[in-house]
Amino acid sequence: MGGKHPRSFITDGDLSMANAIAKVCPDADHRLCTWYIEENAKRHLHGDALTKFRRLVYEVMKADEFERRWCAFKNRDNVPEKELWLAMMYALREKWAAAYTDGRYFLGMRSNQRSEGLNSRIHSHLDRKMSLIDVIEHFMCCVSRMRRNEAEMDARASQSVPFTKISAARFFTHVIFREVRAEIRKICKWVILEVRQLDEARRYSIASKYDHKVHGEVSCSFDGALLMGVKCYCQMMDSKEIPCSHIFTVLKYLRIDIIPQCCVAVRWTLQAKAAFPSIRTANVHEWSEQMDQYRLLRNIANEALVKASLSFERSQQVIDFFENFMREGAENEGSVNETTLGPLPAHFSASNQPSGERVLDPHKIVPKGRIPSKRLKPCRPG
Ligand SMILES: [Zn+2]
Repeated sequence: MGGKHPRSFITDGDLSMANAIAKVCPDADHRLCTWYIEENAKRHLHGDALTKFRRLVYEVMKADEFERRWCAFKNRDNVPEKELWLAMMYALREKWAAAYTDGRYFLGMRSNQRSEGLNSRIHSHLDRKMSLIDVIEHFMCCVSRMRRNEAEMDARASQSVPFTKISAARFFTHVIFREVRAEIRKICKWVILEVRQLDEARRYSIASKYDHKVHGEVSCSFDGALLMGVKCYCQMMDSKEIPCSHIFTVLKYLRIDIIPQCCVAVRWTLQAKAAFPSIRTANVHEWSEQMDQYRLLRNIANEALVKASLSFERSQQVIDFFENFMREGAENEGSVNETTLGPLPAHFSASNQPSGERVLDPHKIVPKGRIPSKRLKPCRPG
């Protein structure tokens, strides 16, 4: 994380984690995963009460409206055995109710699906009879597959542009661009009814085109003619870092054709990865010494070739060097065409050669969860 605290956390209801987050990252925002809340709610509530509780979880409303509806829900549906769980949930309401979490920085996520997805991917194909080495190999294989997918997606994003006239397609990633485009398309629904100057900010009242009913305000700050900051009542920019249709309506009104810097979060752009070195220290493919060596050379060569290509003489020197090198290689090691350039099978790698040290499996630990059921033995006749 480069020494930076995360801005937000999504966890299950674990109390020690909640305490640790509050202590170690006091400025980070913390919410509870809706998947766990849903599972617990199904255990404690049924029928109409469960439906009402779900509305309190997901519906965006004002905090006082939530309090009023919670009182009504509790008085009508309260049963003694549910009381403890409901009291605990009420105490934690700022961590799960949409009335409190809306507009906070969770990038549109409500559950810890990312880490659970990773868990389940690594758990699949695990077998309790596997040795420790098998487990590590399985883990490396999973990680290498995920990194390869990521590298492919990076390549696709950096080498292609969606077929559109909208200039934003050139700097947002493909996935985010689809969301941005959807917001741009919605501007036909809105009109600006009023513009007011208050202190430093200029406020634009946004209304529906059909009934002219005011929905909210977009507040903009300028440096001369330059738009420096923008804040919308819907809080989409604050919570997802994606400019909403209201902001685009104001941009259209101001005749700004290019999305200003204050509406572009670096994390959603194609340049987001520029902060990382282009040299990958981790393997994208299955591990082999030759591929490691090849990647090291390729990363050095990439930069050297760009430098050489700046001058014709240098380029010629590099071409001569490679031609000589290939000729020498052919004389000493036979034909170049016979050399494998793809990844070597894992059993050729040194890590699989027997070494002096013995690696033993760990002591057997009884896992948590369901005890494997014993099958009933069939009764023998007689
Ligand atoms: Zn908005």
